[in-house]
Amino acid sequence: MEEHKTDQDQFIELDVKKLKHIEAERKRILTSGMNDMHFMRCPRCSRTLEQKTITDIAIIICAQCKGIWIDDESLAKVLRLSGDMADDFFNHATK
Ligand SMILES: [Zn+2]
Repeated sequence: MEEHKTDQDQFIELDVKKLKHIEAERKRILTSGMNDMHFMRCPRCSRTLEQKTITDIAIIICAQCKGIWIDDESLAKVLRLSGDMADDFFNHATK
């Protein structure tokens, strides 16, 4: 007797395929030493991300949607900014 797959089964199979592809791609990038910035794309709009350093604070930004990624060390520096310095940082970051 032929086994009939439900839509849910098919979606799950598709998700498993996607996850396997993502994991394989992640391993390929990590083991090939190609995890440089030029391979990173914005998760929101897919544009290539840019690395910037503004007043000693390193950020990664998407020039298209203005999404900003920041590590813990840089975040601590941003949180210590106030007034005009904070305004300047964000003006330069999103320029
Ligand atoms: Zn983006």
